[in-house]
Amino acid sequence: MGTLARQPAGPDLSDRQTKQRSRPLQPSRADLVIDRALIGGRWVSEVGGRTFAVLDPADGSHVIDVPDCGATEASAAADCAANALRDWSARTGKERSQLLRQWHGALLAHQEDLARLLSREQGKPLAESRGEVAAGAAYVEWFAEEAKRAYGDVIPEPTRGRKLIVVKEPVGVVAAITPWNFPIAILARKIAPALAAGCTIVAKPAEDTPLSALAIARLAEEAGIPAGVINIVPASRHRAGEVGDAWLQDFRVRKLTFTGSTAVGKSLARGSADTLKKLSLELGGNSPFIIFDDADLDAAVAGTMASKFRNTGQTCICANRILVQGSVYAAFAEKLTAAVSRLTVGPAASGDADQGPLINDRARIKVEQHVHDALGRGARLLTGGKRHRLGGNFYEPTVLGEANPSMRLASEETFGPVAPLFRFETESEAIALANDTPFGLASYFYARDIGRVWRVAQALEAGTIGINEGIITTEVAPFGGVKASGYGREGSKYGLEDYQHLKYLCMGGLSA
Ligand code: ADP
Repeated sequence: MGTLARQPAGPDLSDRQTKQRSRPLQPSRADLVIDRALIGGRWVSEVGGRTFAVLDPADGSHVIDVPDCGATEASAAADCAANALRDWSARTGKERSQLLRQWHGALLAHQEDLARLLSREQGKPLAESRGEVAAGAAYVEWFAEEAKRAYGDVIPEPTRGRKLIVVKEPVGVVAAITPWNFPIAILARKIAPALAAGCTIVAKPAEDTPLSALAIARLAEEAGIPAGVINIVPASRHRAGEVGDAWLQDFRVRKLTFTGSTAVGKSLARGSADTLKKLSLELGGNSPFIIFDDADLDAAVAGTMASKFRNTGQTCICANRILVQGSVYAAFAEKLTAAVSRLTVGPAASGDADQGPLINDRARIKVEQHVHDALGRGARLLTGGKRHRLGGNFYEPTVLGEANPSMRLASEETFGPVAPLFRFETESEAIALANDTPFGLASYFYARDIGRVWRVAQALEAGTIGINEGIITTEVAPFGGVKASGYGREGSKYGLEDYQHLKYLCMGGLSA
């Protein structure tokens, strides 16, 4: 464990920090606000005196300092996960299932505290945070059930005197690297299948949002999940590469699961080549959202609002390009603009706003640049279009008309509350526009004609398709992308397979 101090877990908030907390976002259990790393069951505060600050995105205020782990701590965590693997993988699926169920119960029992913590560090409205905790818990419940159903196979033998059997085994130690936009749900949907399959895990949460990850790990510990099975190594952006490299180079880490940008995903894929890890990469998107002339327009507006403005537009599967057929363009634009104009904006602590702040300056500047670029290339401003009067990283919910493919927002994820409307005339034009991107995470369309529904669903190049639905993620269905959006699937029965390998047993000499 090198220089790692062994200390009991617990927050060490100064008076100043405590005063800075906005009361509505204060968890009732103060010990869920954790300023430590979790390595082999030890809550570690000392990593050579290095820390980084977690900030409240609503006002930039300081929340807490967290250890800034590096290669030493990452390797120590991998040691612990490797040591814990023997016992954890030897347990029956039913035993692992029972512990995952306990964890699921603990997450729901602390839903409000976790939601407050999540809103504090991530900025999303409390109602959305509560929903995210429930969604994260649902993945844990689902994989608790799947842990008991990791069936193998018996293959009819082609030769007498043999039996051919296929068993599923855990891949081993898993490394998870996760983003800030859904810090609980995305981590839960990686930890839960890993543990269900019999793997142990080392995880690095995003630098903006380490607190949610640490809190759910504390609840896993309380639920009885043994030391070393889940290890959480927070790191600043500056040290993220060091932690990632330590795991990439470690042959005992047999799988990497990553959600984040395509650029970082590609570099992790390259970095994993020497140790030939199994990979799941859930990368960037550029989702088209198509409104055909036979759509139920009110339903299409509701779906667009849900898809585009959830989490203040900071969702990898959110509508990035809204394509509207010419004959319904004006009516749709008017209805959408009216709905967007009604959205309220405010800090999560205010309790009732529809939209929160963007996560940080970098995110807000990108949104400003996209809108500025679009307006310079002929977009029409229908509502919003500038920083919100609350200042900081708050941005007005925005609709832009007459968007075109020359604009940056056509080829890059805006990741903010901006809905650009592109006009098209024919079905084939819509499909060509929709697929004109290297990405393929999610696509959506609204139409009623059954022939069109089937044709378009087949033609769209994406791993996930919403048909007359704007919110499609659920723990029971496979989530993931194609093309530059990556590979691997999360959730559903397929999600477990990403954490298993097949072992084929050929038993011979069985003839009498
Ligand atoms: P975003 O732009 O949304 O922050 P990123 O892909 O940059 O998306 O980050 C997603 C996650 O990947 C975060 O946890 C971040 O710290 C981590 N990360 C970024 N660069 C690296 C790297 N070189 N090695 C390992 N992890 C990284």
